[in-house]
Amino acid sequence: MSAPDVDVLVIGAGPAGCAAAALVHRAGLRAAIVERERFPRFVIGESLLPRCMDVLDEAGLLAAVDSRGYIIKRGARFVRGAETCEFDFANQFTRGWSWTWQVPRDDFDAALAGAVEAMGVPIRFAHEVVAARTGDDLQELDVRGPGGELRTLRGRWLIDASGFGRVLPRLFGLDAPTGQPPRRAIFTHVVGDVRPPGPDEGRIWICIHPAGAWVWVIPFSDGRTSIGAVAPEPFWEGRWDDADLEGTLRRVIAEEPNVAERLAGATSVMPTRALRSYSTAVRQLHGPGYCLVGNATEFLDPVFSSGVTLALESASLAARTVIRQLRGERPDWAAEYAAPMHRGTDVFRTFVDAWYDGTLETIFFAPAIRDEFRRQICSVLAGYVWDEQNPFVARHHHRVRQLARLIEGGALAS
Ligand code: FAD
Repeated sequence: MSAPDVDVLVIGAGPAGCAAAALVHRAGLRAAIVERERFPRFVIGESLLPRCMDVLDEAGLLAAVDSRGYIIKRGARFVRGAETCEFDFANQFTRGWSWTWQVPRDDFDAALAGAVEAMGVPIRFAHEVVAARTGDDLQELDVRGPGGELRTLRGRWLIDASGFGRVLPRLFGLDAPTGQPPRRAIFTHVVGDVRPPGPDEGRIWICIHPAGAWVWVIPFSDGRTSIGAVAPEPFWEGRWDDADLEGTLRRVIAEEPNVAERLAGATSVMPTRALRSYSTAVRQLHGPGYCLVGNATEFLDPVFSSGVTLALESASLAARTVIRQLRGERPDWAAEYAAPMHRGTDVFRTFVDAWYDGTLETIFFAPAIRDEFRRQICSVLAGYVWDEQNPFVARHHHRVRQLARLIEGGALAS
């Protein structure tokens, strides 16, 4: 049997792959990353949640991100016509970070990758994983290099952090139905966005379009702003033009007065892109010799900016479990990794479902809700979805529906 090249092979140098590799490296194991692209490369997913800060810190990556001077995100503003609902991460139930950053992902991911390399973890850029063989003790990846040359890399454990590349789900047939209806997203970067002045400048705006889409506005520190629109498939009928994505997005924005006003003088600085049916899921998060992290597992929906948080959290939890496994312990992967990841994802699932069926609109745009509830909901929106002390985590489905019913019944003055 061939000897492993490293202890842990990681597919993908996005946030999940970088954090996982950094954490196993810091535990004294040898890690290596294989990445298909050359960095910097574009990827969508630019608004972080405060919970990300804990994992970036744990992985030794916070200073590298801090040095990039990103704009600070202190909360979120939901907008419906003339109504607004503000969540301020300083006013939370869970003790945790009260702010985070808005990050252009080309720069952010390159900063993470640079920091991981500086720790001593090699990253093979422009190398694509094309086949994988896993087993109890030795995992093998067939990798195609930039000149088309094939080679096999070996490790004692394999972490698939390939995001929408979904390497192991594709190769091992692990895809599962998502339970989310198909939705489409269209997005670009602009300059010329007229932002609110002061500390609110970095807040994300989520604006509800009158015909059932929602539009994000995510400002960056370099003057660019990310904008995007998301909606279920029926919304796009008669609105979508494959030959003119920029015009498609411009027309949707023109129909939402708040974004239209902010972006009246804005111009696009990158080609408009689109993603269809972006929700994904898998049958299992781990198997003999491997585990899946980040978007290679499940992706629900971008509305609450939960993707990078779940990617980092899964990397942290998986790394802890891999470290125990390779130290000769017998971790219970189902209980120690899969179950907590499903619990956190399920909290966001409740919120995503309640967003699209209108339940959260009832709550967000209620004339007044008790500050206690606002703080508990804010902690979910900040990514603290593992705090079982929070009733909106522990009994998420029940609490969200119950609060909406109370509001509809007029029982909840503040
Ligand atoms: P990625 O960041 O996708 O990294 C995976 C890496 O694996 C890539 O670099 C890729 O090149 C590499 N790879 C793929 N295949 C191979 C292969 N065969 N061999 C080698 N390498 C490979 N999340 C947020 O937190 N905030 C947001 O505001 C947000 N907005 C979003 C908007 C939309 C429309 C969508 C669809 C998603 C959004 N997300 C957001 C989610 C976010 O994009 C992802 O959750 C996040 O990027 C996942 O990180 P990751 O490390 O798992 O994967």
